[in-house]
Amino acid sequence: MKVLIVEDDRRIVSFLVKGLNAEGFTTAVAYDGHEALEALSVGDEGPDLVLLDLGLPGMSGYELLGNIRDRSPALPVIILTARGEVEDKVRGLNLGANDYVTKPFSFAELVARARSALRTREQSVPTELVVRDLHFDLLTKTAHRNGRRIELAQREWAMLELFMRHPTHVMSRAQIMNEVFGYDFDVASNVVDVYVGYLRRKLNASDEEPLIVTVRGAGYRLVAP
Ligand code: CA
Repeated sequence: MKVLIVEDDRRIVSFLVKGLNAEGFTTAVAYDGHEALEALSVGDEGPDLVLLDLGLPGMSGYELLGNIRDRSPALPVIILTARGEVEDKVRGLNLGANDYVTKPFSFAELVARARSALRTREQSVPTELVVRDLHFDLLTKTAHRNGRRIELAQREWAMLELFMRHPTHVMSRAQIMNEVFGYDFDVASNVVDVYVGYLRRKLNASDEEPLIVTVRGAGYRLVAP
């Protein structure tokens, strides 16, 4: 488990790094918000948990927390705060922090809270993707829109899942071909366009925002950014 420590006080950083390493965590350190955002934009190599000091130079801890939540809604964040003020904790929790520890804190308490936040995350693996008013159930592979249940054939739900995992990305025909149809199909075939047509007919009622938009010369995307 990798912990990102966002803290500008080097004594606290060194205390946390030593302690967490001794408990079997790997650690990464950011001394301000910009370093933290860099450490978070590395995809699968990113942290499993963030310890966030609220009093940072430059970008405030609150602003950073908002940024983290926009990028990674499920990433556990524990606030480290010297401020004993109730409003600070409430503000942090309202911004999406999972928990907080008030400095000076006991290391045992911090580790217990870190493990608890990680456990909670593991239990809440999402089973549904939601984009605008479209819901897709990952277990039953069915979609719902405006109370309407939408049955999907295998290639259709595979394609919809791909779009919903990257809702604002333009997906090229080649990408869709690769991910959904694999090598069974000739790249030159129009099977992607045909299936996009099937999906559109199922997803879009006449009075609804059209989903799966053609981007000329590039491919398709589910919705505009
Ligand atoms: Ca600080």
